[in-house]
Amino acid sequence: MKYALVTGGSRGIGRAICIKLSEMGFPVIINYASNKAAALETKQHIEEKNGTAELLPFNVSNVEEVDKILNEWSENHPNDYIAVLINNAGIRLDTMMVFMQNEHWNDVINTNLNGFFNVTRRLLKDMVTKRFGRIINVVSLSGIKGMPGQTNYSAAKAAVIGATKALAQEIGSRKVTVNAIAPGFISTDMTKDLDEKMLKTMIPVGRFGKPEEVADLAGFLASENASYITGEVISINGGLYT
Ligand code: NAP
Repeated sequence: MKYALVTGGSRGIGRAICIKLSEMGFPVIINYASNKAAALETKQHIEEKNGTAELLPFNVSNVEEVDKILNEWSENHPNDYIAVLINNAGIRLDTMMVFMQNEHWNDVINTNLNGFFNVTRRLLKDMVTKRFGRIINVVSLSGIKGMPGQTNYSAAKAAVIGATKALAQEIGSRKVTVNAIAPGFISTDMTKDLDEKMLKTMIPVGRFGKPEEVADLAGFLASENASYITGEVISINGGLYT
């Protein structure tokens, strides 16, 4: 069986992607850091529509934990592999660089960038040997144009964009595609403290995006129909300048 793993699948964009991939027929592995109640809600949404989902909590920034949990998963699923990986887990800790503490920098890099590396490296071998895989990295407009107050987050997301392009070239011949999705402002917990009324005046379509809109794009990139798209960064931002 081909499974789909969504890191940070408990809430927001990750939850919507879990539901979308389940609707496409994938058994879904819902990763999260600590919010089990939210992860169980995602699982329930999937099961109500007769999909299959399991919870797999781990901290993407902890390489030992990632390896241990994913090794255990493989041992328990000898005939299965994770064919679709959505690197979605992310945090933001915004502050101007002049005030930025080491932990602001390190926590954002460790989660958004090293998390991508830790999980992707572990799952690559199976995708390459099975000759099918989809790696979809959720980055950000911030990683394309840079955002003041987000040097840490912009750096992490820009780094993942570079890695997306490089990895796509390494493994394209094995029928494994690697793409990035760069959302603008999407209504989730991550953006609930922002001034939506003011910010939406800057967005040509005049509103924040919905997690389901990002999930539809992720679903397409995960599908067989997207086999000829790799190394791309696709913006989904209502027309905000990129
Ligand atoms: P969110 O609602 O805050 O959800 C974040 C998710 O990431 C949660 O499931 C959380 O798990 C998980 N997570 C955080 N740290 C983790 C860790 N160390 N290990 C494993 N899981 C971890 O965020 P969102 O808005 O859906 O964002 C999802 C992705 O989209 C992020 O990469 C973000 O940078 C990106 N993005 C978002 C926007 C936006 O406007 N919302 C725009 C551009 C890019 P718990 O529930 O356990 O905490």
